[in-house]
Amino acid sequence: MIKENITTLLKTIPTTVKLIAVSKTKPIERIQEAYETGHLDFGENKVQEMSEKATRLPKDIQWHMIGHLQRNKVKYIAPFVSLIHSVDSVRLLREIDKHAQKNDRIIDCLLQMRIAREETKFGLTFNACDELLQNMQCSHVRIRGLMGMATFSDDQSQLKEEFGSLKNYFDIHKNEFQWDTLSMGMSGDYELAIACGSNMIRVGSRIFGSRN
Ligand SMILES: *Cc1c(COP(=O)(O)O)cnc(C)c1O
Repeated sequence: MIKENITTLLKTIPTTVKLIAVSKTKPIERIQEAYETGHLDFGENKVQEMSEKATRLPKDIQWHMIGHLQRNKVKYIAPFVSLIHSVDSVRLLREIDKHAQKNDRIIDCLLQMRIAREETKFGLTFNACDELLQNMQCSHVRIRGLMGMATFSDDQSQLKEEFGSLKNYFDIHKNEFQWDTLSMGMSGDYELAIACGSNMIRVGSRIFGSRN
């Protein structure tokens, strides 16, 4: 079932869009199953869970941190994380830079933007992001682009507005900062996100089934 879900999904999205299979809360056996299709990109939202899974699963898996990241936990994922989608402050960015340097590597990151109307979502406002972009001096972090989560809603016009605002901001800055990644879209809204210009989607329940 998981294998079918992945291959079907990959067939229906453009080849220019990268799929991150969100495996949070799912046991390693299920991830192994997905891995056997040849898929290598997996997303987790908790540091400890991701670290444990990374230890036990094949080393060529690319691990994506998609959840809120506390500064004191950066050190645990710095040696192996492939892309951090959830950078939302200069202080976090500096911490990532420090641990990237210690591990003698460059860590790819996305800036998480607040585009949803809901209060609970993390992320930078466009103004805060402007400021961050002026204040960051990091030698071992490479910002590849932006990530955003739309409001949990069926209102297509609202989702379109939120994705559209992020795409617009992305386009304004992409040349100056050499951004190439716009991570938006989940199980319920990835088609619309792609239509709005996303080139990276983070899909969990559509692949692994619903979570408790
Ligand atoms: C859980 C999660 C997803 C995947 O959600 P689904 O609706 O299961 O596809 C995507 N992005 C983030 C940031 C998440 O926390």
